[in-house]
Amino acid sequence: MRSEPKVGTRGLVPTMGAFHEGHLELMRRSRSHCDQTVVSLFVNPLQFGPNEDLSRYPRQEDRDFEMAADVGVDIMFAPSAEELLPNSQTTVHVAELAHRWEGARRPGHFDGVATIVAKLFNLVRPETAYFGWKDFQQCAVVDRIVTDLNFPLNLTFVDTYREPDGLAMSSRNAYLSPEHRKLAPEIYRTLVSCRQEVAQKPVSIALLHATKHLNSLGFLVDYFALVDTETLEPLDEVTNQCRLIVAAKLGNTWLIDNLGL
Ligand code: AMP
Repeated sequence: MRSEPKVGTRGLVPTMGAFHEGHLELMRRSRSHCDQTVVSLFVNPLQFGPNEDLSRYPRQEDRDFEMAADVGVDIMFAPSAEELLPNSQTTVHVAELAHRWEGARRPGHFDGVATIVAKLFNLVRPETAYFGWKDFQQCAVVDRIVTDLNFPLNLTFVDTYREPDGLAMSSRNAYLSPEHRKLAPEIYRTLVSCRQEVAQKPVSIALLHATKHLNSLGFLVDYFALVDTETLEPLDEVTNQCRLIVAAKLGNTWLIDNLGL
């Protein structure tokens, strides 16, 4: 006998799989607030640049299905690229917000994110969609899309889930060598000390100090900035809506993190 489908509110958690506790936390949040939780698993080719890690991105679909089932996810939606993007000719493009920071380093990245997120919203029609603050700029871009295109849904952003040593959980952490894995939490430690420093020193000095510190340890810092949380414009003074953001390469792996003030 088929069980009755649940009616009522639906939560959507878009992911690229290779689940860790950060992903599961989003699923748990949806479970606790919505009657039905849908998780999408799609390694979105549109958001990877030509020299990025699409082909080696970690894939563990069977394990992901089990992990999602264990936290009580109702539906896991894992379409192939052929199914989701057959001869697609339409792109959702966010202008200024998507051109800074990650968008500058990864041209076209947020067009890829925006296009797939818009498709998932239309396909799944959630009342609430869940995203992680870990990808801070992604949250700002998705917020913009929902406002600009009048998607009838709420967004919930969930705090970054960290390893005990402070490293933000990420599927890409699996690329780190044991030596780099030990060094990686220094990103978070530097964010925390920079947060203290901007309260006492000029912001530009605190940011330069943090950048130099990470570079001296072997990171290659792309940006370490204080930004307005809505426009993502760089700030040279602390305001009541600002956040520290950082992207740095360690070996061949790009790590991003951020911290509210
Ligand atoms: P991804 O599979 O990396 O595209 O991530 C899917 C969702 O999980 C995105 O909304 C991410 O921001 C979120 N996420 C990734 N890592 C974490 C984390 N450590 N804590 C909380 N959310 C996360």
